[in-house]
Amino acid sequence: MKKIVLFILVVFIFGVFGNIGAISSTDYENLISEQKELENELSSIESLIQEKNEEILELEQEKELALVAAAKKVEEEKLASEAAAKAQEEAKKQETASTQTAGSSTTQSSSNQSTSTQSSSSQSSTTQSEATQQSEAVVNETSQMVWIKGSDATIYHSSSTCSRMKTPTQITLEKANTSGMRACQKCY
Ligand SMILES: [Zn+2]
Repeated sequence: MKKIVLFILVVFIFGVFGNIGAISSTDYENLISEQKELENELSSIESLIQEKNEEILELEQEKELALVAAAKKVEEEKLASEAAAKAQEEAKKQETASTQTAGSSTTQSSSNQSTSTQSSSSQSSTTQSEATQQSEAVVNETSQMVWIKGSDATIYHSSSTCSRMKTPTQITLEKANTSGMRACQKCY
């Protein structure tokens, strides 16, 4: 690069002055000194360029470092967010699990309750029906009324119109049984 620039300069100078033979020694010396000056300038420019290049390199290194740092930071942030997301997910899972457990336990307890309610209600209804049956039996034995024909009847009837009774008498079944009467085979 340095050589090319010098060559161009020399060509330029020759071009300006046309013929090297026409140049005097003073002029030549002047030109030489000018060339040296230019050379110095060039070298200073080159050193400046090198400086700038070094600066650029430094900047690039800094940039790289910054990028690495940024990447690291991003990575760290990503990790942190991932960890946070994981923690959140776990918390959610736990919550869901606890909710599920609570829900299932609630369901269980409610079903238990309903079962117990059902069994108790069915029990109470059974008791009631048993009581009703018992009371019916008591009514049957103690206060069911039957019909007989006259005071010396041997047969009792459940219907007052059975066997064309004209003046039927109503007595309790218990009394009829204790009197040795039999049930009418037509109406019983
Ligand atoms: Zn009868």
